[in-house]
Amino acid sequence: MKKTSVKGALRIINNFIVFFLTIGFAVSCCMMLFLSTMGDSMGLTYTAENIASAAKITFINVLILTLIFATIDHIRRKVNVDRPARIITDTTEKIMQGDFSARVPNMHGAGMEGFNRIGEAVNTMAAELSSVETLRTDFIANVSHEMKTPLAVMQNYGTLLQSPDLSEEERIEYAKGVTDASRRMADMMTNILKLNRLENQQIYPEISEYDLGEQLCECLLQYESIWENSEIEIDTEIEEGVMIKADAELLNHVWNNLFSNAFKFTDKGGKVSVSLSATEHHAVVKVTDTGCGMSPEVGAHIFEKFYQGDKSRSVQGNGLGLALVKRVVDIMKGEISVESDVGKGSTFTVRMRRT
Ligand code: ADP
Repeated sequence: MKKTSVKGALRIINNFIVFFLTIGFAVSCCMMLFLSTMGDSMGLTYTAENIASAAKITFINVLILTLIFATIDHIRRKVNVDRPARIITDTTEKIMQGDFSARVPNMHGAGMEGFNRIGEAVNTMAAELSSVETLRTDFIANVSHEMKTPLAVMQNYGTLLQSPDLSEEERIEYAKGVTDASRRMADMMTNILKLNRLENQQIYPEISEYDLGEQLCECLLQYESIWENSEIEIDTEIEEGVMIKADAELLNHVWNNLFSNAFKFTDKGGKVSVSLSATEHHAVVKVTDTGCGMSPEVGAHIFEKFYQGDKSRSVQGNGLGLALVKRVVDIMKGEISVESDVGKGSTFTVRMRRT
C-alpha cells in the first residue's frame, strides 16, 4: 500500500515538472515574441526593472496554468485509465483465485475501446477456463461414480466367498461375479486411457492401405457366439475390394463399439445388418439393428463421455464407447451419424475418406 502511494506521489510530481517545463517554455517564448514585437513597433525600450516584474508575472502565470493542467490531467487519468485498469485487474485476480464466473463489465465513455477489447479477451478466457474446469470435475465425478458399482459388487462377492459352507456351484458363481466386475473396471480403465491419449493427440494415426470389407468381416465374426446365443439374424452387404488408407487399429475400435452396441441393444430374435459401399473417394459403413432404438433426446448425447441412455442395459458398458468412436472418426477426418426410432432400431453411418 505504502509503495503504491509513494509511486503515485512520484508520478504526480513527475507530471507536474513535465507540465511546468512545457508550459514555461511555451509561455516564455510567447512573452518574448510579444514584448520584442511591441518594443520594435512602438519604439519602446525595457529597463531591467520592467523585465524583472514581467518575469515574475510570467512565472506566477506558468505556475497557475501548470496547477490547472496537472489537476485536469490527474482527474482524466483517474477516470479514463486507472478506473478501467483497476476493474480489469480486480477481475483477473478473482479468476486467478478460481472464480471463473467473474467478468469484466462493458465500460462506457471516450477512449474505453481499448480497455473493452482487453475486457472481452479476459471474459473469453474466463469462459474457456470455466468450461475446462466443468469438464474436469464432471470427468472425475463420472469416473468415481462408475468405479463404485463394480467395487461394491466385488466387495459383496468377496464377503460371500469368505463363508466356509459354500457349495461348489455357489463358489464358482461368486468367483465369476468378482471376475466380471473386475473385467468391467479394467475395460473402463482401458477406455479412459485410450480416450485420454486420443484427446491429447498422443496417438498419431498409423496410416496403411488395407481392405476395409475384410476388416469388417473379421471384426463381425468375433461376435458369432453372441449372435448365435441370442438368435440374432445377421445380414451383410459388403462391397468387395474396397481399399482404404487409414489406421486399421483405430478403426477396429470403431467397428467393435458399433457391433457390440448393436448386439447389446437388440433382443433375442432381432436382426443386425452391416453394409459397406464406396465411391471413388469415400467408403460408407452402415451398422443397423432392430433393437430398442433411442429417442432424439438420447441420440443428441450419445457421443458424450459417460453418457448412457438405456440404464437397464448400462451394466454392460460405461458410456465411453461412442465417445471413443467419435474421437477416432474425427481424427480420421470422417463423419458419423445416427438414425434411430424408439422400439424399431438404429442405424449408425460412418463415412470415411479412402485416401
Ligand atoms: P455404453 O454402450 O457403454 O452405454 P456407448 O457410448 O457405447 O456406451 O453408448 C452410449 C449410449 O448410446 C448407450 O447407453 C445407449 O443409450 C445408446 N446407444 C448406443 N448404441 C445404441 C444402439 N445400437 N441402439 C440403441 N441405443 C444405443
